[in-house]
Amino acid sequence: VIHSRRVIRSLRVALMAAALGLVHVASVGAEPLAPAGHVEIDLHAQDGATPALDRMPDQATRLAPPTDAERALLYPIYGWPLERPLHDGNMIVNYVDEVATTSFQDYMGGNWTYDGHRGTDISLYDFRAMDRGMHIVSAADGQVTTAIYANLRDRNCAVPDDPTLNYLGVSNGDGTLTFYYHLRANSMTVNLGETVKKGDVLALVGSSGFSNGPHLHFEPADYLSGGYKARDPWNGTLNPLPSLWAAQEPYAGIAHVRIYDIGVTTRAAAGGNLAAIDYCSVAAEGMQQPAVFGNHEPYVAVWFHLQGLGGDTYRVEVRRPNGTLYASVNNPMFVDVHGGYNLWYWSWDGNVTGPDFGTWTAKVLVGGVTQQQTSFVVGVSTVYGPRFTPRSGRSFRLDGTTVQRDTLHHSALGGTVTYSLLNAPPFVTLTDSILTIGPVSNQPTRSLYFQALATDAATRQDTAWYHIVDPTMPREETVSVPLLARSDGLTLAPNRPNPFASATTLTYSVAKAGRVRLAIYDLSGRRVRELLDAWRPALAEESVTWNARDDRGQPVPGGVYFCRLSMGGRQLTRRLIRLD
Ligand SMILES: [Zn+2]
Repeated sequence: VIHSRRVIRSLRVALMAAALGLVHVASVGAEPLAPAGHVEIDLHAQDGATPALDRMPDQATRLAPPTDAERALLYPIYGWPLERPLHDGNMIVNYVDEVATTSFQDYMGGNWTYDGHRGTDISLYDFRAMDRGMHIVSAADGQVTTAIYANLRDRNCAVPDDPTLNYLGVSNGDGTLTFYYHLRANSMTVNLGETVKKGDVLALVGSSGFSNGPHLHFEPADYLSGGYKARDPWNGTLNPLPSLWAAQEPYAGIAHVRIYDIGVTTRAAAGGNLAAIDYCSVAAEGMQQPAVFGNHEPYVAVWFHLQGLGGDTYRVEVRRPNGTLYASVNNPMFVDVHGGYNLWYWSWDGNVTGPDFGTWTAKVLVGGVTQQQTSFVVGVSTVYGPRFTPRSGRSFRLDGTTVQRDTLHHSALGGTVTYSLLNAPPFVTLTDSILTIGPVSNQPTRSLYFQALATDAATRQDTAWYHIVDPTMPREETVSVPLLARSDGLTLAPNRPNPFASATTLTYSVAKAGRVRLAIYDLSGRRVRELLDAWRPALAEESVTWNARDDRGQPVPGGVYFCRLSMGGRQLTRRLIRLD
């Protein structure tokens, strides 16, 4: 239930001294900088909290407990309980503890569990991902027997004062049950007593109850022996029972390093002290990346989510617009990281001058292959775009009589913003920063999704993701169609302004992670400007401004141009008109 955490702050003094010795580094041809410091945060390791405080439902007991042979035949065959496959926005951080004593071992005899843990913990990367919404889907057919959804404390990051859990119990029809824990408040899309089919949407991932981050605790169990007995669905050396998975995923405890997400951040956006990142307020929220990274920032910091094993290595690189290496580190991992963050930072102010302004890249490589990459624009002063905070999404459940409200807030690091709604139904209104949700919907199905936008003076935007549940409406059947306002792959909004004189802004989004390219072509089909060629995480949205200059920095003549967004063989094109 809990994935507890241990924070290792290994400020590498020797490396910092080395970096400080390189205060004025020429921009081209210089040796790459050594890191100024390094922080590791592992979500998994023990902190001695009490998983036994999870609430268990009362269930009737059966008179004659099943024999071992009978038990081996019980339970359904499960599909993956999230809308997206393992490693696509989610990762396993804990398995079931197979050992009754105070030691702990997972089904393969490894340490990917903690004492007394009865389920499988599947984590999202951070609370921003939770806000965007990750559907929990029913792993098997069944009937809802427990539905607890209204505890609003769904963003727990440390041991909470109110441990009440939002959770679902589903009867599998053979005397066994499947439990889904830590749900996002009011996100439950099924009602008590309803039947569900494998793949049906049940709720959204949250962090209610004893939980240190957004995750689903998935737990098959039964009362057939008199008391509560959890069933480990994973078959392995310490669990001879048959696997309950239709396709059992490989054991995470032997999977080598995998980098999940990446970002570049400033000291201010990281909370003011890069050597001591606060897990809950900063790391778990995802660190804000500025729209422009000023050259007087004291440090450039690169963070990433990862999983991996002691002995694995990765390489971090920061490269200038001309491709030369500014900074790098080759890091051997000393311990297993079951799910966490690494952050590296390097000296910056004084090392970066006008010729270095432009689009930089930061990447993490494993075995010479780029696993994650991001780009960031470097200029004369740091500018932050809008960012919803302390959260960027919420679920509401209608009861037919109560008017509900939410107040939008944005990060103080950005400029002034205006709020607006996108895809909102008529019973949702926005006045200044106050969102009002009427008691009665006109939505056709049980769930409705809409967005709030924060837009700054330069039309940079951030999106907050809202979800409304009307329990009186018919249920969605499956998650086979994307429910959040995600495109089938790519969107490219009309450029603004168009026509334009000196600059125009292009906004795109991608549904899946991958390499995104955005370029400008002239009427003859010749590429005049590459705006972006970078890896982007799933659900990325980004605005890119074209300053009407070509790749050499020369202004282009007035006329018609095309912008092409491409990713994995798919392309979208927009027509742009530059005025003379
Ligand atoms: Zn758990």
